[in-house]
Amino acid sequence: MAEERIMDEIEENIFIIYGQKPNSHSYLIKGLYKNVLIDPGTKANFTRLVQAVGSVGLKVSDIQMVICTHEHYDHIGGIGFFYETAIIAADRFAATKIELEDEYVIHAAVHGEESIKTKINIWLENRMLFDFGNYKLKVLHTPGHTSGCICLYEPFKRFMFTGDTLFANGVISKISDSGSFGDYINSLERLATYRTRRMFPGHGVICENPEESLIVSIKNAKEKLKSYTEGLRKNKG
Ligand SMILES: [Zn+2]
Repeated sequence: MAEERIMDEIEENIFIIYGQKPNSHSYLIKGLYKNVLIDPGTKANFTRLVQAVGSVGLKVSDIQMVICTHEHYDHIGGIGFFYETAIIAADRFAATKIELEDEYVIHAAVHGEESIKTKINIWLENRMLFDFGNYKLKVLHTPGHTSGCICLYEPFKRFMFTGDTLFANGVISKISDSGSFGDYINSLERLATYRTRRMFPGHGVICENPEESLIVSIKNAKEKLKSYTEGLRKNKG
């Protein structure tokens, strides 16, 4: 049987570390002077993450920054492993929930875990910019799936890390606790205004046709909202 692939280089010095269900994918950026991880995944995923990072010649302590795309446990449960050595960044609406361990939104118990135990060192705002030397990442606050979702856009290489906001082939997010359909549709419509070559989602395959995928996702989200509303009216009638 073919050996399972743990990671692939998807852009120069950028690696996808494939999440094993129920984990999200993680993305590792070997910056010019700093190494960055987007979404560490769950605590249970940590051994796999160490293995992946090791295969490109790094130790976990060589990761200087961890950016969380949002506050769900499948993306950020293992964040405590990085707290002593890395700067942790998340949108301010995700930071509040992660720091207070707001189980109503984070859903750690579903993964058999109780605690995350971290502080968020940088509370991100829309349009903040990271400069890692070889890559820049612009923070786009894209609420909807939850209130603290962000996407990270590389304006010169024109790719985007999309967390659980956009998946390939028009697959849409669940609107989770703290999220909203209105915010979600608006966020997708905002993403459609960016010139993007590729999108790197938190689950599933890489999106190689962002423009078409966004059109289908917006349509699907609007239809889902409509059928949800109609369902409520029918039940009342
Ligand atoms: Zn999520």
